[in-house]
Amino acid sequence: THFGYQDVPVEEKVKRVADVFHSVAGKYDLMNDLMSGGIHRLWKRLTIDQSGVRRGHKVLDIAGGTGDLTRKFARMVGQEGKVVLADINDSMLKVGRDKLLNSGVTGNVEYVQANAECLPFDDNTFDVITIAFGLRNVTDQNAALASMLRVLKPGGKLMILEFSKTDNPALTKMYDFYSFNILPQMGKVIAGDAESYRYLAESIRKHPDQETLKGMMDNAGFVNTRYQNMTGGVVALHTGIKP
Ligand code: SAM
Repeated sequence: THFGYQDVPVEEKVKRVADVFHSVAGKYDLMNDLMSGGIHRLWKRLTIDQSGVRRGHKVLDIAGGTGDLTRKFARMVGQEGKVVLADINDSMLKVGRDKLLNSGVTGNVEYVQANAECLPFDDNTFDVITIAFGLRNVTDQNAALASMLRVLKPGGKLMILEFSKTDNPALTKMYDFYSFNILPQMGKVIAGDAESYRYLAESIRKHPDQETLKGMMDNAGFVNTRYQNMTGGVVALHTGIKP
């Protein structure tokens, strides 16, 4: 049986999300590579290529976890820029921090424990904000969109990389089977935790589809909102600009 996590009280979802990521933090990168067959690297690469991040920029990577995007952005902004890797979960943040320090990223990255729903930054601070595979874990997604809009500079860009809805029924069937059968098994064998991966599959299925998320961004006040499907809609990259 599945969690049905969106039918449970808010505090329950918050606690489950916290438990999942405390549990998987140490194995997160390995599982990402195995579960996606390495394709998550391509999805992230496409996101970085379209970010427009330049030297001197200030970038916020919220729900940044183990820092894949932050590491690339740190190189792009140079020492005169800044990247903030923010995550609600201190276990994920610690794994990310250790990984980046070990790969020689220092001087222009800040690590901040923060909730996307109420970001602890001044208005109009960032040139670019990314949230990769994070929004579906956030309880109040509209509050998170409003908060991200507030801390973006006018003209700044929000990029949301997230699992989405496939348009092809055969692909959807395969994908559901994979998510609810193979994925939890892999979680059990490799990370000793089937429940966390069952939660992930469930959270993907419940996440708003492409058009719904685009509408939420419009309602929050973003302009030029658009999305681009990757891998047949398994993943979508939504972007929007702060007017
Ligand atoms: N962005 C990284 C990546 O693409 O590999 C990590 C993605 S991981 C699947 C999701 C992350 O979202 C976790 O590290 C989790 O702690 C974080 N998260 C969940 N809810 C959050 C919230 N309300 N605010 C900030 N981060 C949150």
